[in-house]
Amino acid sequence: MNIIVSEHAGFCFGVKNAVKKALEEAEKQKKPIHTLGQLIHNNTTIKDLENRGIYAVNRLDELKLGDTVIIRAHGIPEKTEAELKEKQIHIIDATCPFVKKIHRLAVENYNKGRKIVIIGDANHPEVIGINGWCGDSAVIINSLEDAQNVKESLNNAVVVVQTTYNVNLYKEIKNYLNKTYENIDFYDTICNTTIGRQENARKIASNADMMLVIGSHHSANSQQLFNICKGECVHTYLVESADDIPHDIINENIKNIGITAGASTPDKVIKEVIGRMEELNKQGIETVEAASVVDTPESKESGEKNFFEEALEDSLVTVRTGQVVKGRIISYNTQAQEVYVDLGFKIDGTIPFSEYTDDSDFDPEKDIKEGQEIEVLVV
Ligand code: SF4
Repeated sequence: MNIIVSEHAGFCFGVKNAVKKALEEAEKQKKPIHTLGQLIHNNTTIKDLENRGIYAVNRLDELKLGDTVIIRAHGIPEKTEAELKEKQIHIIDATCPFVKKIHRLAVENYNKGRKIVIIGDANHPEVIGINGWCGDSAVIINSLEDAQNVKESLNNAVVVVQTTYNVNLYKEIKNYLNKTYENIDFYDTICNTTIGRQENARKIASNADMMLVIGSHHSANSQQLFNICKGECVHTYLVESADDIPHDIINENIKNIGITAGASTPDKVIKEVIGRMEELNKQGIETVEAASVVDTPESKESGEKNFFEEALEDSLVTVRTGQVVKGRIISYNTQAQEVYVDLGFKIDGTIPFSEYTDDSDFDPEKDIKEGQEIEVLVV
């Protein structure tokens, strides 16, 4: 039996960044801190976060003056940010830069008087957050049928898309809106991580006899992966952990098993699922192809480490002086005159503006693109 594991399975850049910020802050403060909503959709890791003093709250009135709150990768509406500031809550903003970019597009175009359309799930926190940056006035479309049933004119509208939306479904809706309305501008804001994850999952599922999608039922991107894989492989299951795998899942007709995972799934959980499938396969596994989650002797020996530390460390890389590595711009600070870059390393890179560019007309607002991949020299 073959097990093929998607090379795009597990923590995405935005989730990794949010978790890292939360852990760093909890370590620094040595007292409980909070996240507004669950930081990631995985029950095991939520418990581990609580063991580290990081607790999710769902309402602002659960926070009091002086508390610290981490804004998760999904982001929050403008008015929620204002309320937190008014209550003098210390905010650590871990909104994914790709989501921040959508906030900017929404607010800029809304202020120009243009109608904002969000393609996504109206109940998803990311969509609620985006809508909150255009006065909760957006038209929200979650299916082709929704698009066909819009009552008002969308001429001259600006369209943005939930970062984890189904790529093919978006193409259908875009095509319909383009044909139906005039002067409509589209910002294709589905993030590259999502596109790669979905494409890879579809490819693996199309050749699999059985497909496991590891992720939460509450996670939008895991649900999208499940729907995509189910379209290719009828025996597709959404499991949150190895414990969810039925004992009788394998039979003699299952020769190729594909595995992918949502953006909130730690590598540790993926490894456990692979291990469980190995156990269930009495003949043993002939091939395991996994780009990012191959079991190593080190990882087997690290059983005493905190689950969460291990999950994060698994996703981190080592860098050395003189190396040129790829990183993603997280943010910048005009006062400190610095750009901050996620290198996938334990600490972020810092680049002074003077080394970032020698353009005399440099304007950070225009010239720095959060989320953009750049090459950096480690010094
Ligand atoms: Fe992850 Fe992409 Fe969403 Fe950012 S935008 S949190 S990288 S899925």
